[in-house]
Amino acid sequence: MAAHVSGIFPTSIQNSIKSSKVLVVGAGGIGCELLKNLVLSGFHDIEVIDLDTIDVSNLNRQFLFHKQHVGRSKSQVARESALQFCPQANIVAHHDSIMSPDYGVTFYQKFSVVMNALDNRAARNHVNRMCLAADITLIESGSAGYLGQVTVIRKGSTECYECQPKAAAKTFPGCTIRNTPSEPIHCIVWAKHLFNQLFGEGDPDEDVSPDSADPELRDQTQGDSTSQNGSSSQSTAKDSTTNGNGSLPAANAAGNVERTSTRTWAQSHNYDPQKLFSKLFHDDIVYLLSMDKLWSKRRKPTPLTWETIMAQQNEESEDSSDGVIKDQVLWTLPQCLQVLSTATAECSKRFQALPSGDHLVWDKDDQSSMDFVTACANIRAHVFGIPQKTRFDVKCHDSLDDGSEFRVVADAEQLKKIQDSASAETPAATAADGQAGDSDEDIQMVEADESSPSAKKRKTSNQDSDQPLKKPRTQREDDDVVLL
Ligand SMILES: [Zn+2]
Repeated sequence: MAAHVSGIFPTSIQNSIKSSKVLVVGAGGIGCELLKNLVLSGFHDIEVIDLDTIDVSNLNRQFLFHKQHVGRSKSQVARESALQFCPQANIVAHHDSIMSPDYGVTFYQKFSVVMNALDNRAARNHVNRMCLAADITLIESGSAGYLGQVTVIRKGSTECYECQPKAAAKTFPGCTIRNTPSEPIHCIVWAKHLFNQLFGEGDPDEDVSPDSADPELRDQTQGDSTSQNGSSSQSTAKDSTTNGNGSLPAANAAGNVERTSTRTWAQSHNYDPQKLFSKLFHDDIVYLLSMDKLWSKRRKPTPLTWETIMAQQNEESEDSSDGVIKDQVLWTLPQCLQVLSTATAECSKRFQALPSGDHLVWDKDDQSSMDFVTACANIRAHVFGIPQKTRFDVKCHDSLDDGSEFRVVADAEQLKKIQDSASAETPAATAADGQAGDSDEDIQMVEADESSPSAKKRKTSNQDSDQPLKKPRTQREDDDVVLL
């Protein structure tokens, strides 16, 4: 391999490559590339750790995995695949969480260098602190959208992963997302929530239906909102919109009942894209328009019908009909419908093939998931007269890989409270740097990670180490964050 070919590296570097022991944390998108590059460069003493198993949606980029590996341990299959092109390497695979107490300071001290290939902040913070404690160099890497980052962290020489406060999760009031979007990002967040409502882990906080508990409507006569609720029993499409969203106090209590219904509704209509479209971009918009007060100082949304858009398609040139739509081209409405149909069919097929109770996990690198979100975000943007975005832009907006996520809170007042409390916490977080334990920063990070699907998945198999972090979060949430 490269290091053994004389002339490529000076002898001293060749020797240190040969004698180095490397820990690779994570065997996903970055981990697969890393492992391949390491063995091909001549690093032959490697341990790799990952608690995940291989999912079908990983196969497009995690090239050490193939169809027959689905369901198996990532670290173990990565090891087997790397050994195939470098049989002389000594690779130890751990199918486990790096945050397990089994991997203490003495474990880290076995290594010459630690390389992070992680997708969530909680684990990054943990490895950062462990490397500081063990005095081992850490190479930290990540990706956000299409961009990759890499940093060397060396105790006493560089800043650590947590020296600079990370951007907090982007937070939006729930009613902006559900009722009155004004920026492309609001539509993207809504579309991602829709994806989760339909195919993912349906989170009641991510409901996509119009919200008649919008604080802007509070001044409106009580009778008005009651009559809207009353009329909800008249049409099926409106049922999932209005049930449980009614009066303010009932919204939280009834939330779960009402909010599972977007998926139930879609299932009862067999994920028919045209019916889904009519509910989301026509019926729900008509319902929103009935809340007059929202539109007194705003541009009103325009309900769309499938037929009207399809009629436009006939007027368009036929260059889009090959089904190949480039990432950086803005899709026309007919193209959005075409993508919506294909992506809905693919996602629902995959979702329905899962055992009951299981769900798809959001993945920005999965073609159908990203297609679905881009199409829905753009159709919604069109409805509200908001500039549309290319698939490329939508993907860049999605900075899931560093663990930061979108959060939706009840209203603007709460958003301000959260922002105020976050800025008040910054000095404490900086002071607590380097100490493992229960600093405020930890709580913040865990909060940001909570909404990441991959973090949720992790939690189930890593309950021990999550417990202490989880408790303070619940308290905080009770104190100042009420999610609708
Ligand atoms: Zn630091």
